Amino acid sequence: MTNAASTNDTHTGKEESRIFPPSAAFQAQANVSGMDGYQALCDAVQADEQGVWTKLAREQLQWHKPFTKGLDESNAPFYTWFADGDLNVSYNCLDVHLTNGNVDKTAIIFEADDGSSNKVSYRELHEKVSKFANGLRSLGIKKGDRVIIYMPMSVEGVAAMQACARIGATHSVVFGGFSAKSLQERIIDAGAVAVITSDFQVRGGKQLPLKAIVDEAFTLGGCEAIANVIVYQRTGAQLNWTERDIWLHDLVKDQSAECTPEWVSAEHPLFILYTSGSTGKPKGVQHSSGGYLLWAKQTMQWVFDLKPTDVFWCTADIGWVTGHSYIAYGPLAAGATQIVFEGIPTYPNAARFWSTIEKHKTTIFYTAPTAIRSLIKAADGDASVHPSKFDLSSLRLLGSVGEPINPEAWMWYYNNIGRQLCPIVDTFWQTETGGIMMSPLPGATPLVPGSCTLPLPGIAAAIVDETGHDLPNGQGGLLVVKRPWPSMIRTIWNDPERFKKSYFPEELGGNIYLAGDGAIRNKDTGYFTITGRIDDVLNVSGHRMGTMEIESALVANPLVAEAAVVGRPDETTGEAICAFVVLKRSRPTGDEAKQLALELRNWVAKEIGPIAKPKEIRFGDNLPKTRSGKIMRRLLRILAKGETITQDISTLENPAILEQLKEAL
Ligand code: ATP
Ligand code: MG
Repeated sequence: MTNAASTNDTHTGKEESRIFPPSAAFQAQANVSGMDGYQALCDAVQADEQGVWTKLAREQLQWHKPFTKGLDESNAPFYTWFADGDLNVSYNCLDVHLTNGNVDKTAIIFEADDGSSNKVSYRELHEKVSKFANGLRSLGIKKGDRVIIYMPMSVEGVAAMQACARIGATHSVVFGGFSAKSLQERIIDAGAVAVITSDFQVRGGKQLPLKAIVDEAFTLGGCEAIANVIVYQRTGAQLNWTERDIWLHDLVKDQSAECTPEWVSAEHPLFILYTSGSTGKPKGVQHSSGGYLLWAKQTMQWVFDLKPTDVFWCTADIGWVTGHSYIAYGPLAAGATQIVFEGIPTYPNAARFWSTIEKHKTTIFYTAPTAIRSLIKAADGDASVHPSKFDLSSLRLLGSVGEPINPEAWMWYYNNIGRQLCPIVDTFWQTETGGIMMSPLPGATPLVPGSCTLPLPGIAAAIVDETGHDLPNGQGGLLVVKRPWPSMIRTIWNDPERFKKSYFPEELGGNIYLAGDGAIRNKDTGYFTITGRIDDVLNVSGHRMGTMEIESALVANPLVAEAAVVGRPDETTGEAICAFVVLKRSRPTGDEAKQLALELRNWVAKEIGPIAKPKEIRFGDNLPKTRSGKIMRRLLRILAKGETITQDISTLENPAILEQLKEAL
């Protein structure tokens, strides 16, 4: 392990003292009510781990063949759950609703890029998926085959995932913003036999090709195992056509609306999903069927406090794990009505989220800090897109995921979107964890801005040093999970050795899960705050600091929209702090930039302490981000050192920005 947080951590930070307990009204109606309710769930797992998980799995899921055992640790760290039970994920998301009163309930409200929308009921979705699944079967696609899904946000994208699940094919969704090269790499690594794509995707008023990029991936070679490319017609614009291509509407035309699901073991791989590549080459994370679905459904109830009348909106793309667990699977398993949004937050203007919440009377809204930060910037610059111009009174709960949310962004979200009425669930989790690991339970946990608060019941999160020893509260270290949980990663596709090395390193004993993030627990409350990736912990003159803390201090300055902090080697202080800053106004240059850099350095000194003062500040129009919107600090570390980037940048959204950030002021 590299540069891990050490035992003698001296947390320099300003403590967050704002605290927001759930309102009596929210608590009274909540699925988990009060800290007593939360504690009772935690205690139950503590007392009888197997008993609790197997009971939940029996209650929440329908099994074709019941399992006899929950967790099996005999081949750790290759843990299995409910392995001798058989079920089908699609059956549990769709068929169950044909007989439980949900059949005519809206499953999906599709909000198209152009502002038109339509609704699909559970009955209609079941029929769509069944025909789709029969179509896939007619092409010879069967249980265990891998299918790449390269689709826009659409009902068909969700249906494609469900159809694969229905026939036991393992899907691997590739985000529609990825290049032909990234697509080709994933096709090869997954050993896929088919691709499901679309002619075009429509985003921000533009038509962007998808199928043409699939064609390009073929020209790069290595895709010969792909027998069919199934094409959903989104726009109908002119397209090149090859022998292997088949229109989705032709494929499903004569298919029956009945499709017997393929019953698979709970351990059958439902999907492979590549991580976003913030810290290195993406890993093909393999997930199960039973344990995965259990957690996706359970967390809808615990974390999102789901009620039959809710209108749930998760703004993630189905290309990310959030779009898997909280669009394609969790909400459907739980029988929710949800919004699937095709467009982008800034089209036709930066009020799109707010106007869409108003239009569909959204009750639960779940988005990413990167989106919030950019919408704050937009609302500051243009009153007409300010959320106060919209009726957001339908909202009762907000969520955040993907990155740490800076306390100032949290407060803006809380005040402006939540109108100080909605709890915010800051949900910490990863592609590898399959579902939410740490988060407030909205009717129980008092909220603290910038903290994901406490682990969910049964999640044995802890903070340890490099040798796996527990650290006391107040001392930063490595975030680990000490007990297996149902939705955990099963392996890295084709690379079990990398799986063991990355997540269950020998240094920590070989059987506790290493998240790869640094974290610290509050001395009094025990609340967790994520301080940054393990590789991002800074050591300045012997003081260990999380990058997150300094970034939050910068973002708390009224001029600053976004900030990323990295370390670079320094002769006198060991490491020097280098901050990359995006202002709410346009990027300053020359003397103005120097003056502002000075101001911001002093600001950080005042907010945290002189030790946290950045040695250098560079301004950009943006920061290098993954296509999922995460800041790629590993690239900034290289720029800060003045070196040339030779690392994998295949998942980088905006390569041009690197040029701008190369030069020191
Ligand atoms: P790679 O593993 O390839 O570097 P990645 O870690 O960015 O990519 P994901 O699995 O999409 O890929 O992201 C998980 C990471 O996102 C977490 O490890 C954490 O760093 C960050 N994260 C997610 N949610 C939160 C949150 N609520 N608070 C703080 N950090 C979060
Ligand atoms: Mg990761």
